[in-house]
Amino acid sequence: MGAVIYPKIAVIGCGLIGSSVIRAARERGVVDFVAVADASATHRDRIVELGFADLVTGDIAEAVAEADLVIFAVPVLAMGEAAQAAAPAMKPGATATDVGSVKGSVAEALAAALPDSVFIIPGHPIAGTEHSGPDAGLAELFENRWVILTPQPRQDDAYLGAVVRLAEFWQGLGANVEQMDDRHHDLVLAVTSHLPHLIAYNIVGTAADMEEVTQAEVMKYSAGGFRDFTRIAASDPTMWRDVFVANKDAVLEILGRFTEDLQALSRAIRWGEADKLHELFTRTREIRRGIIAAGQESAEPNFGRDRGKH
Ligand code: NAP
Repeated sequence: MGAVIYPKIAVIGCGLIGSSVIRAARERGVVDFVAVADASATHRDRIVELGFADLVTGDIAEAVAEADLVIFAVPVLAMGEAAQAAAPAMKPGATATDVGSVKGSVAEALAAALPDSVFIIPGHPIAGTEHSGPDAGLAELFENRWVILTPQPRQDDAYLGAVVRLAEFWQGLGANVEQMDDRHHDLVLAVTSHLPHLIAYNIVGTAADMEEVTQAEVMKYSAGGFRDFTRIAASDPTMWRDVFVANKDAVLEILGRFTEDLQALSRAIRWGEADKLHELFTRTREIRRGIIAAGQESAEPNFGRDRGKH
């Protein structure tokens, strides 16, 4: 058990990520009191049954009152509205953070909604699965995963102290913490997460639409490659709709690069340029080996693969 870092936390949106934070914080003993606000009555009932929160409510203001740390864990486009509901009740000197998969637009929404007396430190745990809701959470989700914080460009001691404390909180949950500019985060994640999801959604959609290939054949002959795409394409539709709407510029920039590279590959195939293909496939195999060496892919089948996704 670690030392208590924030006596009271409030988690707004208690699905996969929100409930994983609570489970991990409880297990590691870094918080005393956990308040949850969730818009879904079904989820609230389930959270009460699961028994990991001290207060469960539909009222965001009630949950954040007296909280030392407020974590917004709702879909990206719901962050602004949730922060507005929290604003009047937030304690001066409290820290407000989030776990959204896009940082630039969320940072703007939090800054517009919350009072100056609150330390706003946006964040993003690079960990997840394709499952949703409070039952999907895992206490070990953040272990040895990266959490990216995108602090505001403030240099005052109080703010820098709040950033250190939030980093200690995530480290207390087993994560490694990195700081980054929010726009850079959005470009990096467009390459490593958002584009791969878009490709998965697209390839599964294409297979489903092909009239000369039946659904039964798609299921029956799903070899590793396609099956992995279907897992990614099963990710939460609301979450991913919000990611693409909120990270439009970075995704379109990376999609442009990707389309050019795909054209080059298609030329190589058309002209039988076997060496070009072999050279690319050799380079990509090295990248895969680097990911394994960096510990971002567990040797365990499924579990490690799932939780390192976003
Ligand atoms: P989730 O499992 O669907 O949980 C979100 C919860 O928030 C649900 O209970 C949802 O209720 C509730 N909610 C929605 N709008 C709300 C509002 N305005 N006020 C209060 N509660 C609200 O989603 P998640 O996967 O945990 O994702 C949450 C955030 O984490 C997103 O911003 C996402 O980008 C980010 N993230 C996700 C992953 C991942 O792998 N899933 C990884 C890293 C970061 P309803 O179901 O009724 O809408």
